[in-house]
Amino acid sequence: MTPKMQAAQVEHFGKPLVFKELDVPVPGPGQILVKTEACGVCHTDLHARDGDWPLKPPLPFTPGHEGIGIVTALGDGVTAVKKGDRVGVPWLYSACGHCEFCLAAQEPVCAEAQFGGYTRNGGFAEYILADPNYVAHIPAGLYAVDAAPLICAGITSYKGLKETQAKPGQWVVISGIGGLGHLGVQYAKAMGLHVCAVDIDDAKLAHATRLGADAVVNAKHADAVAAVVKATGGGAHGVLITAPSLPAFEQGVRMTRKHGTCVLVGIPPGEFPTPLFDVVANCITIRGSFVGNRRDMAEALAFAADGKVKADIELQPLSAINKVFDRLAKGEVPSRVVLDFSPR
Ligand code: NAD
Ligand code: ZN
Ligand code: ZN
Repeated sequence: MTPKMQAAQVEHFGKPLVFKELDVPVPGPGQILVKTEACGVCHTDLHARDGDWPLKPPLPFTPGHEGIGIVTALGDGVTAVKKGDRVGVPWLYSACGHCEFCLAAQEPVCAEAQFGGYTRNGGFAEYILADPNYVAHIPAGLYAVDAAPLICAGITSYKGLKETQAKPGQWVVISGIGGLGHLGVQYAKAMGLHVCAVDIDDAKLAHATRLGADAVVNAKHADAVAAVVKATGGGAHGVLITAPSLPAFEQGVRMTRKHGTCVLVGIPPGEFPTPLFDVVANCITIRGSFVGNRRDMAEALAFAADGKVKADIELQPLSAINKVFDRLAKGEVPSRVVLDFSPR
């Protein structure tokens, strides 16, 4: 009999995930099979379920791109990992390896890139097929549940901070203190940056303070931009916008210091007005940032292995995923929910 596994799949955009018993996939040449131990729930999974973006995943599909697990089977020709290794199956599931972007270690923008839990089935399932050349290698000493948020929320906020080009001693604004942002605050402090945390929820701001933020500003206040400019002595050298909310983007551009860089990471559907005169006259850079490359992944994990960054996690079973999505949509998840696949 073919072995079976539990999986939660999107069958229709905007509808609850459907629980299914599927065949455990068999790794083909160059593939590996990973037995899931834990998988974080990213706001991107919610955008995926809702079909929010111009590039839509083919239906049905299994979301989840923060899956951590143990390699249990190798397809023909695999040498990059071995059975028993703990790996993560990230958003950057695979890329061509030979285009101009791959050669420049910019593989997240490779035209042939595949995305975990989006164009390939992801970690909301007991087993995941993966490409051994693109899995994250989880450092010894990190538990699977703690590693899970790092392979998307962690790498994305860390890479986004690097893309601001803010130097130690300078200010960054982190707008949105959820899954990405609460890790971003910790990375920024570990990188020697001053942090001004921005959110619409005072509880998230209080959490940012506990994590080391030097200043906090509630984005709902009418004078939020002025408050940031005051706290940072003229605007932040770097602004990282993780909020899945369009008003945060125009606001974030206005929080950027002259000659500073505003990095866009949140992806709410739609467009935002750009204060063109201010951007031009203040020489502001606006830049998108999309996860990170494999070196960024190793660096992001190393901060955690060194004890400098730790995700705040709430464990839930796979069966709770639809309730978790409802809370995530309302901003009611404090930091990160991780689906725990360990036997109960
Ligand atoms: P989350 O829901 O855990 O956190 C979002 C936070 O933003 C919450 O704390 C919420 O209170 C706050 N927020 C909402 N509106 C705000 C506003 N107007 N101003 C300031 N803060 C506001 O979400 P997450 O998992 O951290 O993901 C955030 C976004 O980042 C999503 O759009 C997701 O798709 C995107 N994302 C992008 C990448 C990338 O590579 N660029 C990677 C991962 C996630
Ligand atoms: Zn993600
Ligand atoms: Zn490529």
